[in-house]
Amino acid sequence: MPENNSVENGRCDNINPCGYCQATKSLRLYPTQSIFGDNFRINRYLSCNAVFPAPRPTPKQLEIAYDDSYYGQGQQKFTTYIETVLDWFRQGRARRVGRYVKPPVKVLDIGCGNWLHLDPPRHLFFIGAADLISKMKDFGFVLAKQRHLSLEQNPFGFQQSLLNCVLSKRDVLFESLKNNDTYTKQHSRFSILLQKLFYVVTFGLFVLLAAIEASLKKGGTIEMIFKKQNS
Ligand SMILES: [Zn+2]
Repeated sequence: MPENNSVENGRCDNINPCGYCQATKSLRLYPTQSIFGDNFRINRYLSCNAVFPAPRPTPKQLEIAYDDSYYGQGQQKFTTYIETVLDWFRQGRARRVGRYVKPPVKVLDIGCGNWLHLDPPRHLFFIGAADLISKMKDFGFVLAKQRHLSLEQNPFGFQQSLLNCVLSKRDVLFESLKNNDTYTKQHSRFSILLQKLFYVVTFGLFVLLAAIEASLKKGGTIEMIFKKQNS
């Protein structure tokens, strides 16, 4: 299949059938690049509004994206300090889910090992809130709770995105927090130090921005809790 079959004023692609609706026609939104240097476009299917990286990442690209450097060394992905903070967020998620289930239960946190929003080529589908609620209803689930403020994801997402705009490689700060020296070695220790200082010094400002975003229901992360109907 041709990879780039342009239609509609050259702004649409006709590739990669959607995993949900099987449609192929999608609108090009903007170009992006993975940390491995592969180029993608971010497209939106015209039929169902799902957003995805096009062309779809190959099995080889995904294999590289999930190599040992993704998971980190040993039991921990990040430094102990960051893992402690992340554990606090994970426990918060478990507590929120726990309000909707009867004890004794165990909550299993699956998926999304990264902070990062777009994170090409790892994130394959992005579905809008209204579309997800509608799709879940088809499966018999109703929305019980919705949050737009994620202090775990959104302030850092702002900060890393800004750094990506000015640095030659994306996600250098994030990879440095994972001690991924192979990826960050092109950046001097001084550059990494400056990025970490930027992260710490401006964090409060981006918390404020994230709170404003959340009040407008425009945050980069939406947390939803669904309940099975009649359960
Ligand atoms: Zn679709």
